[in-house]
Amino acid sequence: MSFDRRVFEAKGYLVVPGFVDLHTHLREPGFEDSETIETGRRAALRGGFTTICAMPNTEPAVDSPGLLKELIGRGHDVGGARVLFVAAITRGRKGRELADMVELAQAGAVAFSDDGSPVEDARLFRSALEYARASGRPIIEHAQDLALSAKGVMHEGSVSARLGLPGMPAAAEEAAVARDLALARLAGARLHLTHLSTAGSVELVRHAKADGESVTCDVTPHHLAMTDEWVAGSRAFAWEGEDRAPRGVPYDSSTKVNPPLRTRADVRALWAGLEDRTVDAIATDHAPHSSVKKDVEFDQAAFGISGLESALALVLGGVRAGWAPLETVIDALTTGPARALGIDRPEGDWVVIDRDAEWMPRADELASKGKNTPLIGRTLIGRVVATVVAGEVRYEGVVGVAEAISRR
Ligand SMILES: [Zn+2]
Repeated sequence: MSFDRRVFEAKGYLVVPGFVDLHTHLREPGFEDSETIETGRRAALRGGFTTICAMPNTEPAVDSPGLLKELIGRGHDVGGARVLFVAAITRGRKGRELADMVELAQAGAVAFSDDGSPVEDARLFRSALEYARASGRPIIEHAQDLALSAKGVMHEGSVSARLGLPGMPAAAEEAAVARDLALARLAGARLHLTHLSTAGSVELVRHAKADGESVTCDVTPHHLAMTDEWVAGSRAFAWEGEDRAPRGVPYDSSTKVNPPLRTRADVRALWAGLEDRTVDAIATDHAPHSSVKKDVEFDQAAFGISGLESALALVLGGVRAGWAPLETVIDALTTGPARALGIDRPEGDWVVIDRDAEWMPRADELASKGKNTPLIGRTLIGRVVATVVAGEVRYEGVVGVAEAISRR
């Protein structure tokens, strides 16, 4: 079945290049009850992502060329989206000694990250940046001052005070961003700051870019759409009024994510960053968890939202509200992340979108094993109709699409 975009455009669908996700958790090896390479790649296609970057916080961590090569091989064996692998910066992601970064790059690592466990030792992080520069790969950094955010389970602010939950202040992210920018400048390395969530972080990157620094960054769909009020039971997107939106329940662990959902002012700042290209990419931080890790008390639950399949609808909501142009958002899902990784966007990857389709995520219909999203049962607008990898239709989300193609 070959793909002709004109057939879809004639039907009123939007056809754009396949999305590239800089930040996906596939959980294999070690946590296959939460996700596998295969289920994650199918979930990616449903979300319009044709290339995804798997994070190395598996068990064992992806810190050796042998394991990396094995995973690359497994990635070739199953269908779905293309998968690239991010290797660990330090052995076991423990932050004590560097992994064999040059060998990992030679074995096919697309970037380096200790995501979830930021490298606290500034001297070690400096040498990691130097090795990354030598190997021609970026460091994807999860910026968080662990001492400042310790024990926090949500954004520190008026909502956390009301709910009586320990908070993570915005400064825990911003202090780490400032440090990371200073070290990247010192090392002359390419730094990519992932899942920035605060207005202050975006402002720091804006200044660094104005100074000509080699820094890129991404934000997630959930930080673009939801505020910390969601932890208190709101289900109003940042661009909606509370009165018109449905309500959820407070302390729902599916709203627990790191970095945490922030304030509406932070959300607006992320959109402003997209609009002026301070923010290069939208990355999902797709973090599937099995129910045993999520269906527990809020403060005990694992951090993370299963995000691949709802990403597009969330960002289209902001576009509809006029918070950024469609082209900007599509760029942040396609060329922006490819540029941040220093890769060419693969040819022949397309996603067909129905911008007006209303749908509702249902746990049993998600391809991901991770059902941990506060969007279950929430009406969303905008859906992937078909996803094409290397000219081949690998996902069809709407009845009749195959017919349209086979008529060609
Ligand atoms: Zn992270």
